[in-house]
Amino acid sequence: MAEVSLEGLIKHFDRTEAVRSLDLRVADWEFLVLVGPSGCGKTTVLRLIAGLETPTAGRIFIGGQSVENLPARKRDIAMVFQNYALYPHMNVYRNMAFGLEQRGAPEAETRRRVHEAARMLGIAECLNRKPRQLSGGQRQRVALGRAIVRKPSVFLFDEPLSNLDAKLRVKMRGELVKLHRRLEATIVYVTHDQVEAMTMGQRIAVMNEGRLLQVGTPREVYHRPANLFVAGFIGSPSMNFLNASLETAGEGVTLRVDRSEITLPDDGRPWADTTPGSVVLGVRPEDVQVLPVSPKASGGGALSGKIEVVEHLGAETYLELNAGKHQITARVNASQVWEIGQQVTLQMDPASIRLFDPKTEEALPGRHLHEAPMAAGPRQETGT
Ligand code: ATP
Repeated sequence: MAEVSLEGLIKHFDRTEAVRSLDLRVADWEFLVLVGPSGCGKTTVLRLIAGLETPTAGRIFIGGQSVENLPARKRDIAMVFQNYALYPHMNVYRNMAFGLEQRGAPEAETRRRVHEAARMLGIAECLNRKPRQLSGGQRQRVALGRAIVRKPSVFLFDEPLSNLDAKLRVKMRGELVKLHRRLEATIVYVTHDQVEAMTMGQRIAVMNEGRLLQVGTPREVYHRPANLFVAGFIGSPSMNFLNASLETAGEGVTLRVDRSEITLPDDGRPWADTTPGSVVLGVRPEDVQVLPVSPKASGGGALSGKIEVVEHLGAETYLELNAGKHQITARVNASQVWEIGQQVTLQMDPASIRLFDPKTEEALPGRHLHEAPMAAGPRQETGT
C-alpha cells in the first residue's frame, strides 16, 4: 500500500507562503496530476513529499506511516526531474545501476533490474552509450529507468516532459500512462500544462497561489469547475466568461446578457434559489453554436456577433467573435465556410452553462452539481 496523504500541509519560505494548508489524499496506485501556473507551489509540495523540504506545519503520510521525520532516502520514493540529471561520464547501464549499487544491492539483482527496465522502456540497445550519444527522449527514458530499477512504491515526477519537443511529448504521455499500469505504483506528477494534466491524470489537483482549488477526475474538473480560476485554467481555448444578470420569476430563471435573454429549462431550477443579481456566465467554446443567420431568424436566447478571427486547425475551426461587450471563442465545424466580418448569431445550450458568483468567484450550484455524485475513486473512473 502506498497511499500518500497530506494533512494541513504548510510551507513558508521567509515571507513567501508557498503552500497554504493543503489537504490531499493520493490513493494507492493512483496517477494524480498536480497542475497550476508557475509559482503556485506544486514543486514545493513534491519536494515536501520527497523529504527535500521540511514542512512549516502539517503532516505527511506514505503508506499510512508518518514520514516527517524520515530522511528522503528512507521514504521509498523516486523522483524524476525535468532536467534528467544523468551522470555524463557514465554509460546508460551505469547511470541506471548507480542508485542500486549505492544501496548495496547484489550485482546479479542490479543487472536483472536494469535490463528489465531498459526492455520496458525500449532503450535496451543504448545501455553502452553515454548520455551525450542519446536523443532527448532516450535521455528521459534513462532518467525514468533509473527511478524504475529501485522499485519504489511512489514516483514523484516534476515536469519530466517539458524538455522534449511537442511530438515526443505526446508520445511519452501515452507511454507514461501505460508504464503506470505496469508498475502498479502511486504517481504524483507535477506540470503547468493543463493538456498533460487532462490526458494523463486519473485525477487532477488544481493549485493556485499555494492553495488547492479543486481535486477531481479530468471530466469533473472540466465540466464542473469549482470556481472561476479552475474554469479558466483547464481547457484550451479557455472557457468564455460573460457578465450576466440572473432574474427569477416564479419557478422560472432567466439570464440576461446584454440585450438577450436566455431562459433556463425546468431542470435549471436549482438556480431558482440563487439570489437574483450579477453573475458570471461560463460557457465552453464547443458549447457556443454559431449560426450564419440574424438573431431574429434564430428565435430567442441568442446573441448577435461578428467574426473577427478564423483559425483553421484541420479537424476543427475556432472563431473569435465580437458580441457587444464580449469577446467569445467558439469551436465550430471545420467543413463550413466562415468569413471575417460575417454577422452571425450565437446560441448557448442552457444545460452547458456554468454560473459563478462574481464576488467569491465560486461556482453557483447548478443542475450539474445536483446531477451526479463525485466519482468514488480513480480506479473506477479509468477501469484499471
Ligand atoms: P514552477 O512551475 O515555476 O516550477 P511551482 O508551482 O513549482 O512553479 P514552487 O517552485 O513550488 O512553484 O514555488 C512556490 C513559491 O515558493 C514561489 O513563489 C517561489 O518563488 C517560492 N520558493 C520556492 N522555493 C523557494 C526557496 N527555496 N526559497 C525561497 N522561496 C522559494
